Amino acid sequence: METVARKKSESCPEACRAMCCTYVATKIDAPRTKIDWDEIYWFLCHENVEVFIESRKWYVLFDTPCNNLDAKSRCVVYPRRPHVCREHEVENCEYWGEEEGKITLRTPDDLKKFMKRRKVRLRMAWDDPDEPTEKKAPARSGSKTAPKPRTKRSKG
Ligand code: SF4
Ligand code: SF4
Repeated sequence: METVARKKSESCPEACRAMCCTYVATKIDAPRTKIDWDEIYWFLCHENVEVFIESRKWYVLFDTPCNNLDAKSRCVVYPRRPHVCREHEVENCEYWGEEEGKITLRTPDDLKKFMKRRKVRLRMAWDDPDEPTEKKAPARSGSKTAPKPRTKRSKG
């Protein structure tokens, strides 16, 4: 996203065209298990769905405009808008640019590359069968590198 020079004003500039009213984003657990990674993959198989990581928190984003926007990108229910819309801070919003270090995954391929960079070595159903799997070093019993058994998913 293009970064726009921030103005002192806290009102929404017309040029923005209600950027923050064109998607739904919700926090998700950071993936840990194979099932978690598979779910992220499934999100990214859909049109207009993204996953992003900001300040080490994971979100899924559905790129879909609010039905309360008029043709001029103005909110027709503004005095009665939901709480979540009132909480959105104009001075820190996306119009002024993305948070430094934000990572956006838009396609299944983005996810595969991300997992490779992060050295997530899991054999997934959607892996290319011709691609060789990187072998894990065998974990020695009692060593500091032995993987801990997974129990429950932590709640976000
Ligand atoms: S809060 Fe930000 S993104 Fe939303 S309409 Fe105002 S300037 Fe645009
Ligand atoms: S209700 Fe209004 S302020 Fe809230 S997302 Fe929809 S158009 Fe934007």
